[in-house]
Amino acid sequence: MPLTEATASTAPILPFPPGGRATSYPAPAPTSLLLSPPELTGGELAALRAALESGWIAPAGPIPLAFEAAVAEATGFPHVLAVASGTAALHLGYRCLGVEPGDEVWTSTLTFVATIAPAVQMGAVPRFLDVTEESWTLDPDLLAAELARAAARGRLPRAVVPVDLFGQCADLDAIRACCDRWGVPVLSDSAEGLGARLRGRPAGRGAALAAFSFNGNKIVTAGGGGALASEDPASIALARRLAGQAKEPAPHYQHETTGHSYGLSSVLAAVGLAQLPTLEARVAARRSVFGLYRAGLGDLPGLSLMPEPAWGRSSRWLSVIRIDPTRAGTDRERVRQALLSAGIESRPVWKPLHLQPAFRRAPQVGGAVAARLFEEGLCLPSGSGMAPAAQARVIDAIRACWYGGA
Ligand SMILES: *Cc1c(COP(=O)(O)O)cnc(C)c1O
Repeated sequence: MPLTEATASTAPILPFPPGGRATSYPAPAPTSLLLSPPELTGGELAALRAALESGWIAPAGPIPLAFEAAVAEATGFPHVLAVASGTAALHLGYRCLGVEPGDEVWTSTLTFVATIAPAVQMGAVPRFLDVTEESWTLDPDLLAAELARAAARGRLPRAVVPVDLFGQCADLDAIRACCDRWGVPVLSDSAEGLGARLRGRPAGRGAALAAFSFNGNKIVTAGGGGALASEDPASIALARRLAGQAKEPAPHYQHETTGHSYGLSSVLAAVGLAQLPTLEARVAARRSVFGLYRAGLGDLPGLSLMPEPAWGRSSRWLSVIRIDPTRAGTDRERVRQALLSAGIESRPVWKPLHLQPAFRRAPQVGGAVAARLFEEGLCLPSGSGMAPAAQARVIDAIRACWYGGA
């Protein structure tokens, strides 16, 4: 039985289906229904052929530039740098903001480790703030109070990093209002936010800098890649220089600082270029996946779906359910195991960073909301190429946890 439409184009030499093992641990059986496999448009091969025939394959030349222009159009940012990963984009964002050892960088505790890892590797001290029940994203009230306390201590953070979670924008307007008051810049981790909107604007718009990801599991993929975007041309020019080993303009190699090898290969940019025009259709597809889950599961006692606040329009990159064990008669882990036995991949929501051993000494502000979401939240297969019949399998397997298969 075909897993996703992408499977139909399986090349026999591949060790696993091009549906891919985007995020998988433990490795799913080959028949698994995956969380968010890459979906191919069919245009990638022609784009790759054109790139190879042009001779442009390095991270330079017209193809990454064209990809940057396409990302600028999709995100509404005038200045965009294409890079090798979303994590690289975040790292360059931290460099643009001048993060130094001992600086604090604040983010939402409910996120993927890549949000904060580059800052920690630069010697910054992370501070993890809780999220709201309303949006599962950074709590602006908590942020405002904590910023006031930090100002009183005389130790404001170098940056505040809200995260667009599972395709849902953080409330950047409220967050900006608190940060502007103290002159603290905002770097938006919009890796999961591409295609989402906040009060009508694309995700990340309003932040000083925003990072996007084109990893294989994201809504649009280049096979791997990322982008840093800003309204400020100087920031993107600096990031561009740092991404290319910080070469100064000279005939020899001259360096006033050290940089990185973070450019996006033209080969991958070509794949990204073939994918980006499908963004709106993919948002619609992922939203209808979510709608089908709501219709198929919404009546189960103790089960709710990730909320969508009035100010945002989620891309529903991942469809997430929440199971209150006191009302459901089952719990998130039992449902996850039942899905696994049915060959269906699902995953707890991000384990909050304040609960990760890697950050055991980091200061935290609240965290109970995120901790509960981790206990109760489960991400379901959400690919834009998922067939309704495959989704029905997920719904049936979940319903069986309540009604024993009825
Ligand atoms: C995917 C992701 C990243 C990192 O992107 P890569 O392209 O995989 O490096 C960063 N933050 C969040 C929240 C993500 O989901």
